[in-house]
Amino acid sequence: MPATAIASDALTKYEPVIGLEVHVQLLTATKAFCGCANRFGAEPNTNICPVCLGLPGALPVLNAKAVEFATLAALALNCQVRERSIFARKNYFYPDLPKGYQISQYDRPLAEHGWIEVPAADGGSKKIGITRVHMEEDAGKSLHEGFADSATRTYLDLNRCGTPLIEIVSEPDIRTPDEAFEYLTRLKEILLYTAVSDCNMEEGSLRCDANVSVRPRGQEKFGTKAEVKNVNSFRFIRAALEYEIERQAEVIESGGSVAQETRLWNSNEGRTYSMRSKEQAHDYRYFPEPDLPPLIVTPEFIAGIKAKLPELPEARRKRMIAEYELAEQDAHTLAASREFADRFEAAAKSARNPRRVANVLLNEVGGRLKALGLEQGQSPVSMAGIVLAADLLDEGKISSRQMKQLFDVCFEKGEDFGVVYERERPRQITDAAAIEKLVDEVIAANPRQVEQYRAGKKTMAGFFVGQVMRASHGQANPALLNELVVKKLEG
Ligand SMILES: [Zn+2]
Repeated sequence: MPATAIASDALTKYEPVIGLEVHVQLLTATKAFCGCANRFGAEPNTNICPVCLGLPGALPVLNAKAVEFATLAALALNCQVRERSIFARKNYFYPDLPKGYQISQYDRPLAEHGWIEVPAADGGSKKIGITRVHMEEDAGKSLHEGFADSATRTYLDLNRCGTPLIEIVSEPDIRTPDEAFEYLTRLKEILLYTAVSDCNMEEGSLRCDANVSVRPRGQEKFGTKAEVKNVNSFRFIRAALEYEIERQAEVIESGGSVAQETRLWNSNEGRTYSMRSKEQAHDYRYFPEPDLPPLIVTPEFIAGIKAKLPELPEARRKRMIAEYELAEQDAHTLAASREFADRFEAAAKSARNPRRVANVLLNEVGGRLKALGLEQGQSPVSMAGIVLAADLLDEGKISSRQMKQLFDVCFEKGEDFGVVYERERPRQITDAAAIEKLVDEVIAANPRQVEQYRAGKKTMAGFFVGQVMRASHGQANPALLNELVVKKLEG
């Protein structure tokens, strides 16, 4: 059976149930329980000490900044923060975990009962529950590639041991790969706004595991779930989930049963592979960490962190739509990053028409950057240049066609908009008689459109404006042109 047939069949008959576990490294200067630097990319095995290596007799001391960041993230995710939480040892053996256990939190996590709002397929929105946000430490890294003898040896880099993490566990509320993608997108935005992490998936500061099961539509009981690991890019989330949903539906359809197991996503092959049968919580022999006291956060501390919460993406989006009359999609793009939204808002305050600024920024400049594969930071056009362009357009001093030509020059020569505008000073026809002549010609050449306009199709005016603008080589004064077109058509 071809893959697409399985896909459509799978989704009509079976409903996916998805929960995500996201590990996020916190941007503290030092590690969770020792004074070692918390830094990506250092020489292997240089940021280590007896505490993060778990040498006998070494004692952990909790990093206060990590607690602050974890609390900030939890509050931003609408969680209730527990005033007394408990660190626990999660015991397992792995070469990159010299201690033989990971300090984590188990039955008394830092925070619970949160949610993230995501857009729903019906155009509304949906809340995805967050079961818990708990603190833990990262393990080291096994290096299987990149050395001359990698075929026969594995190297260990223990720099990452003890890096502070939060784990964010969602409720099994997600029903489609698209929803999972939206959940992760929103989660990442919120974490970037709070600046607790750089969320860099390539460097592993944000990692996602997915619990996936399928059940016949209409059935209440969840199916057996598989955990999919190693989905290390947003691009692959959808693909990995789609693959896994189809695979499970196919197993059930052919009379088998889904095994409870951990599966690895292989992005080169676009499929998941069975890695091991899923361990149960009791396999980890969790017990309270004897070397750390309970973590107490007072109501005053929580209130203090709450006061530090920035305006979050969803709230900002709604405010920007109301304040600047932005289109929803534009507000969405602008508010996706805090820095980007800040830059836009600073510029919008000095502009005649913020909505037009958004338009020029996203469509004219953003569109060209995207086509060239450049980042915002690599744009030859400054925010002041964008405001200038929007203002000139708004005042009718340049036509949109002239603006486009000026931006073309900006990107060809790597010059700012102001520089190009001053040099080129695009010619504008402000002679009413000259424009009128062009309008008459276009009207005479398009009797059918004139008839439509006069029959009540007023939007037809745009057609005539466009035609005359073209005939004037983009040089007709837009305000005058609009006025004359309407006058002639009405007359
Ligand atoms: Zn250390």
